[in-house]
Amino acid sequence: MRLDRYLSKTLRASNKQVKHWLEQGAVTVDGSICSRGDLSVSRFSRIVANGHPLPCDTRHCFLMNKPAGVLSATRDAEHTTAIELLARQYPALALDDLHLAGRLDRATTGLLLLTNDGLWSKRLTRPEQKIPKTYLVTTAHPIDPNAAEQFALGVRFDKEGVTTAPAQLQRLADNQARLTIYEGMHHQIKRMFALYRNPVVALHRERMGHIVLEPGLAEGQARPLSQQEIQGAL
Ligand code: URA
Repeated sequence: MRLDRYLSKTLRASNKQVKHWLEQGAVTVDGSICSRGDLSVSRFSRIVANGHPLPCDTRHCFLMNKPAGVLSATRDAEHTTAIELLARQYPALALDDLHLAGRLDRATTGLLLLTNDGLWSKRLTRPEQKIPKTYLVTTAHPIDPNAAEQFALGVRFDKEGVTTAPAQLQRLADNQARLTIYEGMHHQIKRMFALYRNPVVALHRERMGHIVLEPGLAEGQARPLSQQEIQGAL
C-alpha cells in the first residue's frame, strides 16, 4: 500500500495533514525520513509519523537444512513437515503465518527457505527472477560426458512444452556433480538426468542466489537470515 494512504487510514488523518507531515520530514520508514507519499510500504515497514510509532509485524525469514524424509509443506497427516521442524526449534513463532519460499522433493536435503513475508517469497520464486539454485547431485551411474553440454543448451520437457534455461554442470567425480539451474520445475534435476536414464540417488541444495547453506548448520536445524541475505536475495 502507498505510504500516504496507509498513514491516513491508520491514523485517521486527512490527506492535507499527511501531506504536511511528509513535507515537514515528520515521517520515517525503517529509520529514514521519507517525504514520498507514493512509497510502497508493507505490514513489516517500521513507520513513525509525527512521533507516533505505528504497529507493524516482525518479518521472519529462516534458512533450514532440510533432512531427507521431511516434506516441504505446512502440514501433512503422514510425514513431518519443514514448518513442524521449525516450530520445534522456535516454539514462540506463529506457525500459521509461515510458508515456504520454494520447495524440495521429500528425499532432497539442504537449503530451504521459510518466511511469513509473502511478497519476498513471491519475488524470490517467480520464474522471471531466474535465481540460480546450486545442487550437489549424486547419480546411480557415471555421468554422461555430454551432459554438461546438453544441460547448457537446455533440456526439453514435453509435459510443460518448455526447454530448461541453460544450466551449468561441473563434474566432481564419476557419479557426482554440482549443478546450477535457474527454474524450479517439478522434479527438474531428476528429469534432466532421466534424459540419460541415470537416476539421481542423492540431491542436496547448497545455494539459492546469494544465500548459502553453511556446513555448520546441522540437518533439521534452522537459522534466521541476516538483513543482507534477505535484501541481497532479490
Ligand atoms: N530437482 C529435483 O528433481 N528435485 C528437487 O528437490 C529439486 C530440484
